[in-house]
Amino acid sequence: MKKETLAVHAGYEPDPTTKAVAVPIYQTTAYAFDNTQHGADLFDLKVEGNIYSRIMNPTTNVLEQRVAALEGGLASLALASGQAASTNAILTIAEAGDNFITTSTLYGGTYNLFAHTFPQIGIEARFAAPDDIDGMAAMIDDRTKAIYCESLGNPAGNVVDLEALADMAHAHGVPVIVDNTVPSPYLNNPFKWGCDIIVHSLTKYLAGHGTIIGGAIVDSGKFDWAANKERFKRLNEPDVSYHGVVYTEALGEAAYIGRARVVPLRNMGAALSAHTSFLALQGIETLPLRMDRICENAQTVAENLQAHDQVEWVRYAGLSDSPYKALADKYMDGRASGILSFGIKGGIASATKFIDALNLITRLVNIGDAKSLACHPASTTHRQLSPEELATTGVSDDLVRLSIGIEHIDDIMEDINQALAAAKK
Ligand SMILES: *Cc1c(COP(=O)(O)O)cnc(C)c1O
Repeated sequence: MKKETLAVHAGYEPDPTTKAVAVPIYQTTAYAFDNTQHGADLFDLKVEGNIYSRIMNPTTNVLEQRVAALEGGLASLALASGQAASTNAILTIAEAGDNFITTSTLYGGTYNLFAHTFPQIGIEARFAAPDDIDGMAAMIDDRTKAIYCESLGNPAGNVVDLEALADMAHAHGVPVIVDNTVPSPYLNNPFKWGCDIIVHSLTKYLAGHGTIIGGAIVDSGKFDWAANKERFKRLNEPDVSYHGVVYTEALGEAAYIGRARVVPLRNMGAALSAHTSFLALQGIETLPLRMDRICENAQTVAENLQAHDQVEWVRYAGLSDSPYKALADKYMDGRASGILSFGIKGGIASATKFIDALNLITRLVNIGDAKSLACHPASTTHRQLSPEELATTGVSDDLVRLSIGIEHIDDIMEDINQALAAAKK
């Protein structure tokens, strides 16, 4: 089925006992065992079934199936936030002494996690320029567990050449983990280009209404973890924390996503609540409709800004003169999602005046809402970064980030134009 249909139906048929057509919210902590043998069999993974809602929940299960279907993946794991998804995606395969390689154009929270928190637990993130695939290849050693990137950088707006990256990584026996939050599965499907694991912030376009915090990891099921038993030893050696299971033997192609559930999720506990899963499912139903409108609106805003005499530069991969236009055409059919950034003449002072003058567009730190949003990353999301770090993540002082919503384009443009006029005063 096509994405428009999957977004509404994947993972759910009317509940056989209640005939509920909307996905029920299973607001329960635990699930009854028929007898002690049933409980033991569940724990031994001999029979399928629910045990405890930190590890699995029927509402969340529908969400997981729906996200996996939209990405064309084998299975997914929902988590409490996008940050939990990127954290757990790495921790499923990496531990103290290991490293991974990442593009430097990252969401600010991810940058902080990789640059500062992972090193504190002995995992090194090696940063590379997003277009420097040879440079990334040169950083790989026998403790490298993955290559990480954002398919469409937030807020840098760069598009990563996923196919070239996956080819290079696989030649070295290393998987590619892609944060696909900004394009959403509607615009880009990294598995189609050979990438192996996807992480999402459900908070953004997927849930789509600025109402929740959530995340997901999706597994393509295609990466051969058993091909290098030493590099991926946690998937290939008996796991004492889960009664000696060898994930590649017990779960086959689901080894990675299975361990992600029974080790980082079960032991560290970043579970998504059933109610939040329900809200994410509600949002996903209209993902294709929203993204169509959002891309159309954002393209118009980008073109209008580019033609405005107060605007110094505009970064949006949908613009014909963007250095990422060809990659946007290849991976997203030319549709560059709803995030764009621009610099106003007059630098940080004008940027501040512009943001303060907005009436319709909300000042906040979020993206991917149905509502249009504006923020100044250098003073908010990327505030903790040093000037050098700001440069490598693609954030300058004068950068204003817009997340364009689904309102009527005339109202969006009117607000932007009046705020630009106010910024000149
Ligand atoms: C927001 C965001 C995250 C983090 O997601 P949360 O749900 O806020 O934890 C990760 N990656 C990208 C690209 C984001 O925009």
